[in-house]
Amino acid sequence: MLTKYQTHIAGRWVDAASGEFFETDNPYTGKPWALIPRCAAEDVDRAVRAAHAAFTSGPWPKLTASQRGALLRKLGDLVSEHSKALAEIEVRDNGKLLAEMNPVTAYMAQWYHYYGGLADKIEGAVIPTDKPDIFNYTRYEPLGVVAAIVPWNSPLFLTTWKLAPALAAGNTIVIKPSEFTSASLLEFMKLVEQAGFPPGVVNVVTGFGSEAGLPLVEHPLVAKVAFTGSDLTGQKVYEAAARGLKRVSLELGGKSPNIVFDDAEIENAVKGVVSGIFAATGQTCVAGSRLLVQESIHDQFVDKLLALAKTAKMGNPMHLDTQVGPITNKPQLEKVLNYIEIAKAEGATAVLGGKRPSSPECGDGWFVEPTIFSGVHNRMRIAQEEVFGPVLSIIPFKDEDEALALGNDIVYGLAAGVWTQNMRRALMMADRLQAGTVWINTYRAVSYLSPFGGYKRSGLGRESGQEMLKEYLQVKSVWISTATEVPNPFVQR
Ligand code: NAD
Repeated sequence: MLTKYQTHIAGRWVDAASGEFFETDNPYTGKPWALIPRCAAEDVDRAVRAAHAAFTSGPWPKLTASQRGALLRKLGDLVSEHSKALAEIEVRDNGKLLAEMNPVTAYMAQWYHYYGGLADKIEGAVIPTDKPDIFNYTRYEPLGVVAAIVPWNSPLFLTTWKLAPALAAGNTIVIKPSEFTSASLLEFMKLVEQAGFPPGVVNVVTGFGSEAGLPLVEHPLVAKVAFTGSDLTGQKVYEAAARGLKRVSLELGGKSPNIVFDDAEIENAVKGVVSGIFAATGQTCVAGSRLLVQESIHDQFVDKLLALAKTAKMGNPMHLDTQVGPITNKPQLEKVLNYIEIAKAEGATAVLGGKRPSSPECGDGWFVEPTIFSGVHNRMRIAQEEVFGPVLSIIPFKDEDEALALGNDIVYGLAAGVWTQNMRRALMMADRLQAGTVWINTYRAVSYLSPFGGYKRSGLGRESGQEMLKEYLQVKSVWISTATEVPNPFVQR
């Protein structure tokens, strides 16, 4: 019996207007486990109108910033309290490891606490203008209805990165999760209700990109689109939003270099490379999918890397000792397998993996073995295109200049890793790598306190940290005359 979900619009649990549902699958069993409402333009219109009404009237705009902050902190407390249940839903629907989701859903609470704390610290300024008899000040105001569109790889975590600052700034929101992983957000909406947010402040439209996502981006009452997904969809979203002159932030894909120099602490670097590409089954935007390794240590490093990667335990993502879970959805499984064929056809050699596993622990799940290709040239498709799976390409380099040239020779610029014990080299690489995040002697570290986002085709704007709150605000300049007389009306003041 499949669990039947409703979506949440205007403070109510509702079906799609069409009454239609679609199935969502458990990637470990390869079978559907729940039904999700198939929303389309009519539902989107209902949700955006509800968000707009909540923004312009009712209790939300009357709340003080401190009251808004208190609601967010309450939501953070509820997330902490229910983090294990949220993690389990995410694992069932997405195939992520419970061992990773338990700490991630618990950590998510920090975004609500942090932005809850910032809500009443949004301050304008008094401007010392050059005009006599004028008092001029600025105030930061919310934008209105935010449309948040998120992908399948980290459904709740990435929703949180948008939801917490959008609400802290005083906006209302309509969220469209991925059609592959909607269930966790619908469970999470119970916590939003419990926290006491007024109806219409947070709404969800579940459904497909063309049926629900595009109408949401195009809706005239949407003021800002906050999108996370692939660069190709991001481009379409950007174009559609541009027609309505909407603000846009885009968190897009990557093909990040993980660069190992011969002076690196080798055991740590091996772990860092494995964590960069095989954690979360390589289904992360920051996957360190290009290993650039200095020629002088190439063979020794690859031997150690293979030794560790071979031990990765694949299996049931609910088991706490599993290290590599399934691919989240069937089209993605096919995409990863297709890239493996492309790499082979391009002349790369699979030194590890390269196929679906047959072990009983993997059952009918959508698994791909951790795969490593050597003999890769940086211009090959396997080195240039985002696979979004457990597939690593090894590319040797001679010296710093070549490491930088190869690292930057890519349309993306989301993240980069550098492994060295030389401080000058580390800082020089951090300066010159074209990426929004550079990790030195670590990988995959993120925080609510630090800005995250992409250079080049990896995106526009940033998420997390204090600065990015401005992406959900607009500034108003207020001019007050303190003069006793209105001056000559025919000239500019
Ligand atoms: P996707 O681009 O296919 O879909 C993302 C979302 O957009 C989904 O909700 C989808 O339904 C919706 N969508 C699809 N077509 C649309 C349209 N025309 N208009 C509006 N919405 C539409 O991405 P995906 O396959 O779900 O996710 C994987 C991608 O996300 C990878 O490229 C990955 O790198 C990227 N990603 C980026 C970050 C980051 O922070 N930079 C984080 C995670 C994932």
